[in-house]
Amino acid sequence: MKLHLPSYPRGHHQISETVESAQLDLDRLLFPRAIEVRIQLERQDPYLRLDCQLKTSIHRTCDRCLADYDSSVIADARLVFVLGAMPSHRNEDAEEIQYIPTDSQEIDLSADLRDTLMLSLPMKSLCHDDCKGLCSQCGQNLNEGLCRCSR
Ligand SMILES: [Zn+2]
Ligand SMILES: [Zn+2]
Repeated sequence: MKLHLPSYPRGHHQISETVESAQLDLDRLLFPRAIEVRIQLERQDPYLRLDCQLKTSIHRTCDRCLADYDSSVIADARLVFVLGAMPSHRNEDAEEIQYIPTDSQEIDLSADLRDTLMLSLPMKSLCHDDCKGLCSQCGQNLNEGLCRCSR
């Protein structure tokens, strides 16, 4: 997803776009649905501040019961770009600022949006927080009922 800079003069802009996961180089199996991207852009040259919100759903396999499930994902990110060269004296929050050439026509947000989504995913894949998993002896899905082993 690219921002065409001449389309956004000084001031505030709302951007809404729907992008396919492949456009952000995301795994289609994990992200089967399109991603809704909303960006509030504030441009005050040389600064561009972007508050991004991403919405989609992921398709995963539960670590405990091995069932496939979908769950919604909402991720936020604040990105700051500066048109110009990186200063030799960097202040404390400089790491969050990305410097781009003054004559840039566009900014490619794909990598930042992809990272934002990936970092928002829970480490564990659970269909429900209280998933009971499978019986270690007979393999019965204990969410669907108790097996004979426990009687
Ligand atoms: Zn489960
Ligand atoms: Zn059992």
